[in-house]
Amino acid sequence: MKQLLALFLFLQTACFGAPAWVSEQNLEVLVSKEDIAKKVNEVAAKIDAEYSGQELEVIIVMKGGVCVASDLIRALQTPITLGYMKASSYGKNGASAGELKITGLEDLDLSGKNVLVVDDIFDSGNTMTQLVKKLEEAKPKSLKTLVLLSKKIPRKTQYRPDYVLFEIENRFVVGYGLDYKEYYRGLDSVYAFINDTPPLSLQ
Ligand code: 5GP
Ligand code: MG
Repeated sequence: MKQLLALFLFLQTACFGAPAWVSEQNLEVLVSKEDIAKKVNEVAAKIDAEYSGQELEVIIVMKGGVCVASDLIRALQTPITLGYMKASSYGKNGASAGELKITGLEDLDLSGKNVLVVDDIFDSGNTMTQLVKKLEEAKPKSLKTLVLLSKKIPRKTQYRPDYVLFEIENRFVVGYGLDYKEYYRGLDSVYAFINDTPPLSLQ
């Protein structure tokens, strides 16, 4: 019986293609790495068509945007330059809440450029709305935004990203750039906690 259970756990991990410890973390896949790879390629082709014959400055919103941006820039044919900035909110531990702090704008030179801002997730929309407002002050030639995920929730904000790779249900997600208490960013798929409950070791 024990051997059967061990075999089951091994196969489950092998199918996930995730590190073995993931199966102990109460995580379930919400968006698989295969689906992400396919969608990144599709969106890259759309962006290439849109900016044909032009250059693009891709701005990574750190830290969550790091995985989708790094896959996207390798899928694009359009010549890109790369910048980054940091957006973090302080409040509830683990989830996004509280006051938004934006840093790194002073190192960006966006004047007259086609700019594409890349972030992990559009939740309340507050982060992206404020980022766009700030970046517009730098007078780019064009300014568009891309997010890996958008939650299907009602919002007070009017702004919507130009590219959304996946619409997801309203659950807290981790992996592929997204963290819980700074963990899980390196997972290659997007996960939610089973019953929306993080493992005891992180609560
Ligand atoms: P918004 O300002 O749109 O409410 O939140 C955007 C930011 O909150 C994201 O860039 C991300 O840092 C964080 N966030 C929102 N929802 C989630 C989630 O489900 N998981 C994680 N890990 N971060 C989230
Ligand atoms: Mg963020």
